[in-house]
Amino acid sequence: MADTTQGALAPTYHPLPVTIARAHGTHVWDTDGNEFLDFLSGYSALNFGHLHQGLVAAAMTQLRQVTLTSRAFDHDRLEEFAQRLVEVVGLLTTGGEGSLVVPMNTGAEAVETAIKAVRKWGYDVRGVPEDQATIVVAEGNFHGRTTTLVGLSDDPTARGGFGPFAPGFVQVPFGDLAAVADAVDDTTVAVLMEPVQGEAGVVVPPDDFWPGLRALTAEKNIALVADEIQSGLGRTGTTLACELWDVQPDLVCLGKALGGGILPVSAVVGKPEILGVLTPGTHGSTFGGNPLACAVGIAALDLLSTGQYQARAAASGRVLKERLDALVDRGLLTGARSVGLWAGIDMDPAFGTGRDLCEALLERGVLAKDTHEATIRLSPPLSIVQPELEMALDILEESLVALRDEDSDGGSGEDADQGDEPGVSEGDEPSAPEDDAVDPPTEMSAETSDSTDAAAVAKGTRGTKGKSLRGKGEPSELSPTAG
Ligand SMILES: *Cc1c(COP(=O)(O)O)cnc(C)c1O
Repeated sequence: MADTTQGALAPTYHPLPVTIARAHGTHVWDTDGNEFLDFLSGYSALNFGHLHQGLVAAAMTQLRQVTLTSRAFDHDRLEEFAQRLVEVVGLLTTGGEGSLVVPMNTGAEAVETAIKAVRKWGYDVRGVPEDQATIVVAEGNFHGRTTTLVGLSDDPTARGGFGPFAPGFVQVPFGDLAAVADAVDDTTVAVLMEPVQGEAGVVVPPDDFWPGLRALTAEKNIALVADEIQSGLGRTGTTLACELWDVQPDLVCLGKALGGGILPVSAVVGKPEILGVLTPGTHGSTFGGNPLACAVGIAALDLLSTGQYQARAAASGRVLKERLDALVDRGLLTGARSVGLWAGIDMDPAFGTGRDLCEALLERGVLAKDTHEATIRLSPPLSIVQPELEMALDILEESLVALRDEDSDGGSGEDADQGDEPGVSEGDEPSAPEDDAVDPPTEMSAETSDSTDAAAVAKGTRGTKGKSLRGKGEPSELSPTAG
């Protein structure tokens, strides 16, 4: 395994042993030129793939104009960005076309913004006594890493040692409507939850949960806040996961894919009666809504507004689900949950840990990340074409079989028969024609792009060690001196 010692970095992460140097579409390359399919996609920040042409072009164009003004001054992309967010996301909330937008940077800041807004709305509009506001959250949640947000978490690793935590939150089991009903009272200003829990391992609640939350919160004049930072922007086959249940939340937190995988862009979008309480001086951000962020955000929303990414996620998601269910039926997985192009799969602990599976996948050319001990999340770019998806699922199957057989050989989990060269797999060099096309389908209209992509896939990913793929598909506009 590669040395992952990271001298000057605080040990906040335990990365897989791969050092990425380049990426394009659904593919990344390590410093040795080995090629991998990216099945993490920056935790869904790369829904449109790496270096999407349109997003890169939008960023490059804006880089030559103006990148930062602060909100002390307006700039010419800000209102456009807000309008676009209202059209693509605001219309899916109770704010409708009158929705307001608070632009921020990271996902955690969007959630913090929503918490500030619903509290102030609770005091100013609902008349909740000062400092008494409560917010109902779910067990198993992940909303970010600030001190307030880890205080909402019940993950001992995420929260342990970081108290004291902010008061005013009540935790209930995710998916348990009766528990939410019991938890709300006159001080409840909001229910804040992920529609589908990402970090928890793609946990999909019962179908009546979100409609039930909507009815309950509407009846009691409580704000329904959906953290769609990971679930939103196409991942589930819809623009928002809430659409799966025809639910309009009052506020939506967005992040991750809103920045196109280029820079952090987040926002809270929704009901003007709530976000309107954030008057001048009550909230802000030096970088929130900066021109570069707005330019990339607008381009990302443009991609979503065609519906093609959502459709692709839904179609690929059906293939994903079918294949994962088959692995469960064969006893190679103990569980698989999926929605759209997003899955959490559970390893049989007898075969090894989630980490073991991720390392086995890495050796065969697929990047994925374990979330809890035995759970791995699969979330490839939405632009993935079926041959790539099928190939990655073949590799998943092969890896699980290898781990199972290693285990039944009485192996201790040490590498028995796998080479330790990432990206290399023995014996099944694909025989497809050489083809330079590794470009992702940047115009998503084209199912017809599958043929060239299939060739690229068959060529790529496995057995690429030592082949020079460098420079191919490198968008020339990326050159800092271009133009
Ligand atoms: C990633 C994530 C966040 C935090 O986003 P950051 O940009 O890392 O701060 C919040 N909520 C959910 C559901 C997430 O997946």
